[in-house]
Amino acid sequence: MSSSDSGARPQPRPGVLAIDPYVPGKSSAPVHVKIYKLSSNETPLGPSPLAKEAYVRCVETLSIYPDGSARALREALGARHKLDPARIVCGAGSDELIFFLAYAFIGPGDESIYTQHGFAVYRIATLAAGGTPVIAKERNLTASVDEILGKITPRTRIVFLANPNNPTGTYLDAAEIKRLAAALPRHVLLVIDAAYAEYVTEPDYTPAIELVSANENVVMTRTFSKIYGLAALRLGWLYGPAHICDAVDRLRGPFNVSRPALEVGIAALGDAAHLEMSIAHNKTWRAWLAREIAALGLGVTPSAANFLLIHFTDANEARAADLYLTERGLILRAVESYGLPHCLRLSVGTEEANRLVVAALAQFKGKDGPRA
Ligand SMILES: *Cc1c(COP(=O)(O)O)cnc(C)c1O
Repeated sequence: MSSSDSGARPQPRPGVLAIDPYVPGKSSAPVHVKIYKLSSNETPLGPSPLAKEAYVRCVETLSIYPDGSARALREALGARHKLDPARIVCGAGSDELIFFLAYAFIGPGDESIYTQHGFAVYRIATLAAGGTPVIAKERNLTASVDEILGKITPRTRIVFLANPNNPTGTYLDAAEIKRLAAALPRHVLLVIDAAYAEYVTEPDYTPAIELVSANENVVMTRTFSKIYGLAALRLGWLYGPAHICDAVDRLRGPFNVSRPALEVGIAALGDAAHLEMSIAHNKTWRAWLAREIAALGLGVTPSAANFLLIHFTDANEARAADLYLTERGLILRAVESYGLPHCLRLSVGTEEANRLVVAALAQFKGKDGPRA
């Protein structure tokens, strides 16, 4: 080896080292307290009992590769949502599908647009693909169609939009989404990430299935990680135009979704009662939490999802509250990395957890606990 080689070593492509590794919500606290993990928008009700039974049955087939085409799950999703199964692609979480979309459509010099407080994975996937992230301002902690359109350039390849968005919980209504899709240049792919769609009860909301059906440049992603309670299994899917599905299918690993994920996903789709119960629990407790927390003098962003963004006076107070709650086993999500250092994000939990959070916040603010 010549001396000029002594510092040489493999170098990642440009963009890779620009990625700040994703920091998940924390899940630990002092050992002596019971932990309530309210930091990752997981469901407090867990998956359907039918899903758990299906998982147990999978122990018999662990040596057998899964169906790489995920046909049975795509057919179950097609039946459930009235979609053509040929236009569905399944992934190891919707995150995997977001990466595939970035790899398929973004190269060096290309741009993706996402919003100011948009979901962190869009930036990571864009940089991983060698592209340039472009951030569109939000208005009132809500995506703005006009700000997004103002960032379009000839290099724009993808607009990523979480609807509702994480960590703000805000959403664009059906008319605004339609306006965005109609105004985008035809070569720009609109990715609508509807991870929280099942939780939304507002009548003017759409997960945008009809826009996917009507356009060659709109894709919707969905997940089993949130309301279906299967985050550990890693299962998501997209519905898109045939040519987009074809591109993603070429990038996909031949067995990217495990057999347990496929079989448990099908079982979960079969339990409509569990889904309804989960929606109802969230609706009730999201409203209760928003009311009680606002009554303590804290700001709460109206949320369409299964979490609330709580506003403190400043970043110091948010950090102090985070520490105070963590010491009591109540784990919330700090969101400095989303440009919201004065906020904490709270996932809707069990009744017990929700009441403990409000009581602890009341103590933190030096006020009485909730009346109920
Ligand atoms: C949680 C979440 C997802 C889901 O990711 P998975 O990889 O399916 O677990 C996707 N998008 C947003 C905005 C989320 O908050």
